[in-house]
Amino acid sequence: MTGTPNGTHMKFVALTIFPELMQAFWDNGIMRRAAADGIISATAVNIRDYAKGRHRVTDDRPYGGGCGMVMKPEPLADAIAAAKQVAPEAPVVLMAPQGKRFDQTMARNMAAEPGLILICGRYEGVDERITERFVDMELSIGDFVLTGGELPAMVVIDAVTRLLPGALGNEDSAGQDSFCHGRLDCGHYTRPPDFKGRSVPDVLLSGHHERITSWRRADALMRTLVRRPDLLRQKPLDGPEVALLEKWRSEIEELIRSQRDGGTDPPSGGG
Ligand code: SAH
Repeated sequence: MTGTPNGTHMKFVALTIFPELMQAFWDNGIMRRAAADGIISATAVNIRDYAKGRHRVTDDRPYGGGCGMVMKPEPLADAIAAAKQVAPEAPVVLMAPQGKRFDQTMARNMAAEPGLILICGRYEGVDERITERFVDMELSIGDFVLTGGELPAMVVIDAVTRLLPGALGNEDSAGQDSFCHGRLDCGHYTRPPDFKGRSVPDVLLSGHHERITSWRRADALMRTLVRRPDLLRQKPLDGPEVALLEKWRSEIEELIRSQRDGGTDPPSGGG
């Protein structure tokens, strides 16, 4: 791989005992194209290749007893060394439910790295001494426990790759996504204009670029307000957003006033 003209080339190395899982992921869709275009390279290192003995065992019983198995440190340490040959500058990330919670900001920061070495745990996880000695960061994709780190690694690789210049084909398409500007994305529509009696908002068919942009802004803000108001607190409102909220407030106040003044009596308390 020579990299893209603008120099972006990110190396992903996943350490796993199921390399076929990773292979299926980067043999398809955007991942495949990004690799073909030299934007990324993706390699699976099979931890089992670094396990000793006839049976190439990668796990063992936990000290102190109890159920479940633990991933042995020696094969992992050697697999990490091999990964560092492939991507010497890349931070080593352990996928772990106890790690820092992955989000879009983290994805953006990671997109500036030269690569990522991702360790996919299995069983009860990896021997703690691997974490202490070789891991730069533990990363969780959410407060739930999966059977292995391969899916979490794919989640991270996918989210990071689509932020790399050229990966989506259209430079703008990541720019309006949810969380990109601290807001959710607007709704999207495609043909046909009428689907089972439901039509596309007129403005989107108008060809009027400015009105379409402001419709999208308003729709994104409304969705964020209804579904994720916490996001509005994290990133301050800009001028047009304040104007929209004030407009909606007066519409809501007007609605309430008209119901109160002209409508039926408010329902009396049950009993
Ligand atoms: N005993 C561990 C869980 C092990 S789950 C604990 O309770 O913390 C087995 C492996 O799946 C982990 O080593 C990790 O690599 C992966 N995994 C499971 N859930 C995950 C999550 N939410 N985020 C990231 N990795 C996860």
